[in-house]
Amino acid sequence: MLSWDDSIAAPQPKPVARPASPAARGNASLDPVLRRVNAADKRIINGRTDVNQLVPFKYKWAWEKYLATCANHWMPQEINMSRDIALWKDPDGLTDDERRVIRRNLGFFVTADSLAANNIVLGTYRHITAPECRQFLLRQAFEEAIHTHAYQYIVESLGLDEGEIFNAYHEVPSIRAKDEFLIPFIDTLTDPHFRTGTVAADQQLLQSLIVFACLMEGLFFYVGFAQILALGRQNKMTGAAEQYQYILRDESMHCNFGIDLINQIKLENPQLWTGEFREDIRALFKRAVELEYAYAEDTMPRGVLGLNAPMFKGYLRYIANRRCQQIGIESMFAAEENPFPWMSEMIDLKKERNFFETRVIEYQSGGALNWE
Ligand code: FE
Repeated sequence: MLSWDDSIAAPQPKPVARPASPAARGNASLDPVLRRVNAADKRIINGRTDVNQLVPFKYKWAWEKYLATCANHWMPQEINMSRDIALWKDPDGLTDDERRVIRRNLGFFVTADSLAANNIVLGTYRHITAPECRQFLLRQAFEEAIHTHAYQYIVESLGLDEGEIFNAYHEVPSIRAKDEFLIPFIDTLTDPHFRTGTVAADQQLLQSLIVFACLMEGLFFYVGFAQILALGRQNKMTGAAEQYQYILRDESMHCNFGIDLINQIKLENPQLWTGEFREDIRALFKRAVELEYAYAEDTMPRGVLGLNAPMFKGYLRYIANRRCQQIGIESMFAAEENPFPWMSEMIDLKKERNFFETRVIEYQSGGALNWE
């Protein structure tokens, strides 16, 4: 064993001058002289400041969202699943349609957050040159892991067929169609040869960010969230519903961060926001609403839980309009009312924290939930 007094005999490697990749250095290597970071020089994409220096802050909204997500930390195994297990095992506990909703629902979600995590870790992160935003993305990636853990924990608790649930994204057409829509946009960002810095490439990046934040996290999750939260409102599967409530809150933060990121990129790069680009985005929104509606029909061939697929048509249009408005695109559909106003309340746990009469009394924590 080495002690501090031992001399290190091994020859020390000579420093090798090697070009740092833009991903690692935020293009700082392109500057002949590394200068102290001036906040005003920071850029969300194609920045030339050192990405290793978090401060001085420029994008305070990103840092504040990072702090907020940390304050909301939770872990799946802190939630008691015993009532869910008893209900699932009781032959009269749930109808066949309710069981179908649960299986199809988990069938989408068990792999969705892995896609989201890969998209961040292998894609988005490399192309973002603002360290405050990278800090949020690191936290977001961990939250996607927690979500995958939560879905796995539910599958395991209920003793569901893991092969069926984890392969649903290959085997269930309505789930496969959603993932096939997303994958080309994830592939753009994760392609090791993809580089930003031209209008065409930057538009591709922006398009992928919009698809990811507004359509994947901001639309494709919402039929599934509403279904499980509707079960919880009827005092069924309350453990799963509590987990989904925490996931919904995390995801709504991811979606809002993504929207801020998109709007800041637009502000810094107005040349990307052309009429043609906006038309392409509108077409993607339209397609995403169709796919999510097809998923709603497949998971609910008949009315269940007081919900039915046509109610989701209105809900999805309402959400799509909202997302359009958030990124500065004209609403796509005639004014739609939100048929599930209780979903907005679900996002604010402080207001509704005893919704399922579970035992969580104080959510914000330094690492653990408090129990009564
Ligand atoms: Fe997410």
